[in-house]
Amino acid sequence: MLSTLLAVACGLLIAGVMTIQSIEQRYLTQFGDALEAKAKLVEYGIHPLLSSSLSPRPLSSLQETARDLGNRVSARVTLVAADGTVLADSAVRDADLPAVENHTSRPEIQQALSTGHGADIRPSHTTGERTMYRALLLHQAQNAAPIVVRVGLPMVIVDREIAELKQHLFLALGVAFLVALTLSIWLAHSITKPLSDIVAAARQLSSGHLAVPIRTTAQDEVSLLATTLNDMANQLHAKIDELSEDRAQLLAVLTSMVEGVMVLDYRGHVLQINPALEGMFGISRVEARGRPCAELFRQQQLNDLVTTILRSRVPHEDEIVLPLTGRCLQIEASPAGGERESEACIVLVFHDITELRRLEKIRKDFVANVSHELRTPLTSIKGYVEALLDGAKDDPAVSAKFLEIILKQSDRLNLIIEDLLELSKIESGRVSLKEEPLELRSIVDRTLSMIKPIADKKRHRLVTSIDPALPPVAGDEGRLVQVLTNLLDNAVKYTPEGGTISVGAKPAPSVGNAEPPAQAIDLSVADTGIGIPEEDRPRVFERFYRVDKARSRELGGTGLGLAIVKHIVEGHGGQVWVEANHPQGSRFVVRLPLRATARSLHHVNEASRA
Ligand code: ADP
Repeated sequence: MLSTLLAVACGLLIAGVMTIQSIEQRYLTQFGDALEAKAKLVEYGIHPLLSSSLSPRPLSSLQETARDLGNRVSARVTLVAADGTVLADSAVRDADLPAVENHTSRPEIQQALSTGHGADIRPSHTTGERTMYRALLLHQAQNAAPIVVRVGLPMVIVDREIAELKQHLFLALGVAFLVALTLSIWLAHSITKPLSDIVAAARQLSSGHLAVPIRTTAQDEVSLLATTLNDMANQLHAKIDELSEDRAQLLAVLTSMVEGVMVLDYRGHVLQINPALEGMFGISRVEARGRPCAELFRQQQLNDLVTTILRSRVPHEDEIVLPLTGRCLQIEASPAGGERESEACIVLVFHDITELRRLEKIRKDFVANVSHELRTPLTSIKGYVEALLDGAKDDPAVSAKFLEIILKQSDRLNLIIEDLLELSKIESGRVSLKEEPLELRSIVDRTLSMIKPIADKKRHRLVTSIDPALPPVAGDEGRLVQVLTNLLDNAVKYTPEGGTISVGAKPAPSVGNAEPPAQAIDLSVADTGIGIPEEDRPRVFERFYRVDKARSRELGGTGLGLAIVKHIVEGHGGQVWVEANHPQGSRFVVRLPLRATARSLHHVNEASRA
C-alpha cells in the first residue's frame, strides 16, 4: 500500500509541476502576445507624431501622447531615446520625468536598439511591480535618432491567476491523492483481510483444530486458496481419523493379546511392547522404548535369537525359561521388513507355554504312572499264576493263599481301571451333574454311616459340626457323596488308630470388611493323621500322585481318589484344597458356590416354614 501511494504521490506531483509549468508558459505567451499587440498599437499611435516635420517636438506633447496611449491600451507606455533618456512615460508625472534614470541598461531597450525588438520580465524600478516589457525600435523621419517604444504591463493579474490555478491544481491533486489513499487502503484491506483470515485458519489447522473451515467472501485466487486449504484440511481430517482408528484398533489388539509382543527396529532397539510382555518380564513400556533389546532383557538365548534374525531376516522360533519366575516362553520371531530407525524390522511374539508344558508333563507322568500302576498287579498276578502252574497248585494251602493274592491284585486292577474310567468320564464331560437343592447335613450323615464301620475298625472318633442355618447347595447328591467318601476314606486310611476325624460345614468367609450374604459353603474333612508336607499339597490332586507310594499301595489306594474329588468339585463350580490341621493331620476343604437357584429355593423354604 505504501509503495503504491508513493508512486501515486510522485506521479501526481510530477503531473502537477508539469501542468503548472506548461500553463504558466502559456499564460506568459498569451500575455506576451497581448503586450506585443499593445506595443504595436502604441507604435502605430505614436508613429504620426514622430514622422511630422515639427521639430523639435515638445516633451510635454510626447508625455501626453504616451499617457493617452497608455490609457487606451491599459499599459504603461515609455518612450526612450536612443541614448537611453526617457522621453515620456505614462506612469510618471510630468514633473518627475527629468529625474527618471537613464534606461540604456534595461535589457529590453538594449535588445530593441540592437535588433529592433526587445522583451523582459522583471520588477520595475519605477513602480516596483513585476512587469513584462515589450520594446520596439521606431525610426524617425529625416534621419533623426530612432526612439524605443516600450510597453510595460504589471504581471500581478497573471501572477494572481497562476497562483489561483496552482491552488486549484494542488487542491485537485490533494483530492486525487486522498481518493488514491482511500482506494489503496480499501484494496489492501480487501486483499489482506481474506489472507489474514486464511493465516488465522491455517494457524488453527497447524495447532490441531482441523474442524475450523476457512470462510471467505472473495471470488478470486484468495478464495481458491481458501477452498484448497479447506479441502486439504478435510482430507487431512479424514486421513487422521482413519489413522487414529487404525491405531486404536491396533492398540486394542495389542493390549488385549494374551501373547507378549515386541517390535524391534533394524538395530535391535525396542519400538513397542504390549502389556502382556510388560507383565511377563516386569518391565514398563516407557522404560523399554528406544533401548537395545540386549540391554533390556539380558537373556542370552533371546539376544541370540534377535541377532540371528537381524542377520538372516528369516523367521525363527525358540523357547526360553525365565530364571526368576520359571515361566516357559515360546518365542516366534518374524522379519517385518523395516529398514529405518522408527520402522518395525522384527516382530517377536511370546507365548507363555508354562501351563502347556505342565500339562504335557502331567500327561507323560500319567502315561508312565498308569502303565506302572497296571503293570504292578499284573506282574504279581502273572508271577503267582506261574507259581501255581509250576506246582504250587498241588499244595492246597499254598494255592489257596496264592489264589487269594491273585484275587486281591485283580480287584486292585479292577479298582484302578474303574477309577480311571470314572475320571475320564468326568473329565470328558460325559457325566452330567445334576443341579438339585441339597441339604449338606443329609449328605454328611449318609456318608458317615458308610464310613463308620471302617472308622470303627481303627477306633477313630467321628465328629460333625454343621451350621444349622446353612442354605441348601445346588448339586449332584451321588457325586457329592462320592467326594465326601473319598476324603473320609483317605482320612481313615492316613490316620493312625484312635484318631479324630471331623466333618464340618459353614458359610465361606466373605472377602472384605462388609458382610454380604455368603456366596459359598465350606465343607471340610479334617483328621489327626500323618499330614501332607507343604510342598506336596498342591500336587496330591494330580492323578497317581502319592506322597508315599508304598504306604498308599499297601493301604489299597489307587492314587486317583483326590483327582476324582477335584474334578467333581470343579464340575460343581467349586474349589478344593488341602491345608495343615492343627496340631497335626490334614484338612481338606471343599468350597461349593451357592447358586441362584439353590438360594431362591432356600428362601421359598424359609418362607413356607415361617
Ligand atoms: P490314594 O488312593 O493313594 O489315597 P488319593 O488320590 O486319594 O490316592 O490321595 C493321593 C495322596 O494324597 C495319597 O497317596 C496320600 O499320600 C495323600 N493323602 C490323601 N489324603 C490324605 C490324608 N488325609 N492324610 C495324609 N495324606 C493324604
